[in-house]
Amino acid sequence: MPQTAKTPAVHAVQIGALNKWYGTFHVLRDVSLTVPNGSRIVVCGPSGSGKSTLIRCLNGLEAYQQGTVTLGATRLGENARETTLARRQTGMVFQNFNLFPHLTVLSNCTLALRRVLGMARHEAESLARHHLEKVRIPEQANKYPAQLSGGQQQRVAIARALCMNPRLMLFDEPTSALDPEMIKEVLDVMTGLANEGMTMICVTHEMGFAREVADQVVFMDQGSIVEQASPSTFFTTPGHPRARSFLNTLL
Ligand code: ADP
Ligand code: MG
Repeated sequence: MPQTAKTPAVHAVQIGALNKWYGTFHVLRDVSLTVPNGSRIVVCGPSGSGKSTLIRCLNGLEAYQQGTVTLGATRLGENARETTLARRQTGMVFQNFNLFPHLTVLSNCTLALRRVLGMARHEAESLARHHLEKVRIPEQANKYPAQLSGGQQQRVAIARALCMNPRLMLFDEPTSALDPEMIKEVLDVMTGLANEGMTMICVTHEMGFAREVADQVVFMDQGSIVEQASPSTFFTTPGHPRARSFLNTLL
């Protein structure tokens, strides 16, 4: 059957030989990665290895100099309108939540729905409440971010991303800024999303989550992917010496 615009692409993300420099610093080196629809990739590696930069290249927060990023059927940068649409369908969750401090939880969730999608207020609010329910904080809808715990704020950030009905969710160390007792509530929400079939790329050092949820673990070092393996292989017999020493630092 010929592929039409309505045929969903098999891969949510295809990264081909991506290279990026910050000035003269070569931060991403020939990074290639294929993420099938519905799969969960955990990206780990030492600080400064380029994990955030890679994630940010996928949703247009960073430019790159060489290589290709294809989200679904859309190659980023080829067509401005298609690129904007593809990015809009990519949800992003940051380490520091990045909520708008002057807006309530509900308004944080409805802002893009109203401003970007032009949705009516009641429709946007009902969608936002649905997603706040899903991340188990419907009762916080009228509070401001500063009135919430870190774990609650991060769940608002997840709900806000889900409101845009993303095809792909990107997480950049979503639990690194949280106290230990709040890490689990955020990881539980992420596990729930994975179980519903969401395609996810998660930068995280929560290796319990990686073991339980990831299809593939990607290990980065000095701007390159040096190992990609199933969690069972990665955790028991990591092939690369740098992956082995990295795992030892987590023990
Ligand atoms: P990670 O997320 O793995 O810790 P990053 O992607 O944040 O790594 O950073 C990779 C490298 O790029 C680091 O050495 C960092 O200092 C450098 N870097 C990150 N952002 C910038 C920037 N805007 N300008 C220059 N160098 C940067
Ligand atoms: Mg980072």
